[in-house]
Amino acid sequence: MDDKENLPILSNSVEQVTADLHRHYNFTLGRFDSDDMNGYMMTALALTIRDRLMDRWRITKLRGSRHNVRKVMYLSLEFLLGRSLSNAILNLDMEESIRGALADFGSKLEEIESDEKDAGLGNGGLGRLAACFMDSCATLGLPVIGYGIRYEYGMFHQSFQEGRQVEQPDHWLIGGNPWEIERPGHTRRVRFYGKTEYYNNDSGRLCARWINTQDVLAVPYDMPIPGYKNDKVNTLRLWKAAATDEFNLQEFNAGDYADAVAEKNLAEQITMVLYPNDSSENGKELRLRQQYFLASASLQDVIADWVMLNGEEFNDFDQFNCFQLNDTHPTLAVAELMRLLIDDHGIGWDEAWRITTRTMAYTNHTLLPEALEKWPVRLFRELLPRLLDIVFEINARFIAEVAHRWPGDTQRQQRMSIIEEGDEQYVRMAYLAIVGSFSVNGVAALHSQLLTTGLFKDFYELWPDKFNNKTNGVTPRRWLSHCNPNLGSLLNEAIGDGWRTDLTELEKLRPLADDTEFQKRWFDVKQRNKLPLIERVKDKCRVDFSVDSLFDVQVKRIHEYKRQLLNILHVIHLYDRITRGDTEGLVPRSVLLGGKAAPGYALAKLIIKLANNVATVVNSDETVSPWLKLAFLPNYRVTSMEVICPGTDLSEQISTAGKEASGTGNMKFMMNGALTIGTYDGANIEILDAVGADNFFLFGLRVEDIPSFRMQHDANAIIAEDHDLNRVMQLLECGHFNMFEPGIFDPIIQTVRNPQDQWMVAADFRSFIDAQQDVNVAYKNRSRWVRSSILNTAASAQFSSDRTIAEYARDIWKLPL
Ligand SMILES: *Cc1c(COP(=O)(O)O)cnc(C)c1O
Repeated sequence: MDDKENLPILSNSVEQVTADLHRHYNFTLGRFDSDDMNGYMMTALALTIRDRLMDRWRITKLRGSRHNVRKVMYLSLEFLLGRSLSNAILNLDMEESIRGALADFGSKLEEIESDEKDAGLGNGGLGRLAACFMDSCATLGLPVIGYGIRYEYGMFHQSFQEGRQVEQPDHWLIGGNPWEIERPGHTRRVRFYGKTEYYNNDSGRLCARWINTQDVLAVPYDMPIPGYKNDKVNTLRLWKAAATDEFNLQEFNAGDYADAVAEKNLAEQITMVLYPNDSSENGKELRLRQQYFLASASLQDVIADWVMLNGEEFNDFDQFNCFQLNDTHPTLAVAELMRLLIDDHGIGWDEAWRITTRTMAYTNHTLLPEALEKWPVRLFRELLPRLLDIVFEINARFIAEVAHRWPGDTQRQQRMSIIEEGDEQYVRMAYLAIVGSFSVNGVAALHSQLLTTGLFKDFYELWPDKFNNKTNGVTPRRWLSHCNPNLGSLLNEAIGDGWRTDLTELEKLRPLADDTEFQKRWFDVKQRNKLPLIERVKDKCRVDFSVDSLFDVQVKRIHEYKRQLLNILHVIHLYDRITRGDTEGLVPRSVLLGGKAAPGYALAKLIIKLANNVATVVNSDETVSPWLKLAFLPNYRVTSMEVICPGTDLSEQISTAGKEASGTGNMKFMMNGALTIGTYDGANIEILDAVGADNFFLFGLRVEDIPSFRMQHDANAIIAEDHDLNRVMQLLECGHFNMFEPGIFDPIIQTVRNPQDQWMVAADFRSFIDAQQDVNVAYKNRSRWVRSSILNTAASAQFSSDRTIAEYARDIWKLPL
């Protein structure tokens, strides 16, 4: 094996890049006529860039594997990567030479980039966080390996039929994925079903083994993760399920060869599709299989490497390995590491537990009870019998510890038990994660605090030192440098280009915020950035946004707690005002919504239908359209956000207080100079803190106000007393937006009127409308608005995922920076 560490590396000259492009196009891909270039040119370019990643990748790996180096494994069921081509060009600094080379083919880089499909291997914020983290880890030069699943079908494609969401499968791998390298030599075997057998080993010790299992192979596909201009390339390893060959043989002998081969599908089902639920779990067996498949394959992978270097000596395993669990989805890793250490490597329980609990760290992403995973013990026992033994043993020892600490407090023991008792027993995955980890973190200051006083209060009392906060961030490479080159150039001219690696340099903008000449240039950039967004909305929604209007945007998964409904009620209120001729103090607005609803979430899908129906009425009324436009952009994904956030004036972050753990969309918008209208929730609070109350439109109840407010106020009374809200409800209730489909919006009307409405839509309506009126006033004063916009970007440094990852490295991972 080539052991050279010097970077040699293929030249980036236009000549060399041109030659490589030709070679890949003609020889690797076998293309000969240049009028059939579509798509293939994208692949040829990706392969040309991949060649340049390879040496850097090999050297990064070599440095991390020759001797023990402390490393971190980021375990996540989701990595919402989006496109890789433009990101690789940016991070390898190849734009100039590639543009030069493409000129030779008569191709434009933008057109080729648009041929790449998004890798949509995630639902929303949680999956995109994992992708931003991978970029920051590589850029900071940290030895962090991502482990995930290579879903054949990623997040579904969304379109609308008569305003209703239609889901279509996203076969993103069709046409090949030029970024992945299959590594069949590192295939692992994952077991399911069967039973536990006890036996005495050679030294007479009672041991367990898992027998009569049905096995599935895990084949790794590696994706390169380039750091920003630092010659580092980290690895994202995605597992694909494949059938073993053994069972075929038995069936073959029975004469059912074809049926036996067809059975392969059963095994390969495991990695077929991403579950499209964001912030809710649906308890399907296949999902549990996916979770165990990821945990087991990844742990076996790490242990195999360990054994290669250290033999069967696991004493120091925890000094060199750390697993970060992205939510509870990969939490079976706790039980699986115990199993591997005890059953396969002959380590005793106490030592195995010491190693495990010094190795695992858990990130919580939600306070919503419906999102907390629990698996029926019955299902768990059937699918993973040996793992269930281990979970029960972990729980028995844990409950003994609780009993020792709080003698006689049996209620507390029941509350804290990993096993929920009742008609049906469940395994509480969050509790297993807490008990098995040395670190538990939330993702924004408020969220982490609420965890210790609410959901995990008992655990906080037992282990206060485990709990910590790591406020989320986003990578400024994708979410500023790449997506907003116009602003990037202006920043370079104004404050130099140090901000690209050290975002705190954006602070240098502050003195320029009052500079009229600079304000003008800043405004021009925003207006220019609106043009591609206007094009997209026109193309996808057949709606014309005016560049002179205020761009008011809410894009994110559709969920009641995110309150797209409150946004729509505001639009209906504006519509009502304008049709009455009351346009005093208004500014022309273009309201953009986007986001997918989980296919089984009926109310979220109805909210999409309502938005589309309201859009039809608003946009076709000629007295209204000079003032107000509404569009729902179909198929919101990473690539659409790259066009949306640079052109946005106003970022809607309007979740019910205490429900949004952090949010990261809020950070992308702020970085690109949008002002936020938002509740006191998640990372909004930290954004407000950083930018100051003058540059943020705060509204709504705070989390501590909600319980007493609910006792004293009834939604129907609020509606009756608020003239504007009453009119909005009347428009909804008289069927103004559903003339030909009477009654379809009744479920929505009922949630707003529900005295029990936990999302507080009616309760926050007045405060929201007033804040929106403040927005109108602020936008009319261009100098004031632009000043705020500049200050938002200037204060966005702390929302770089580089800052977040530096904190993980220092506080949890103990990796030197
Ligand atoms: C950033 C991002 C999210 C998260 O948005 P929130 O507003 O924080 O919910 C979801 N989906 C995509 C495609 C994103 O880029």
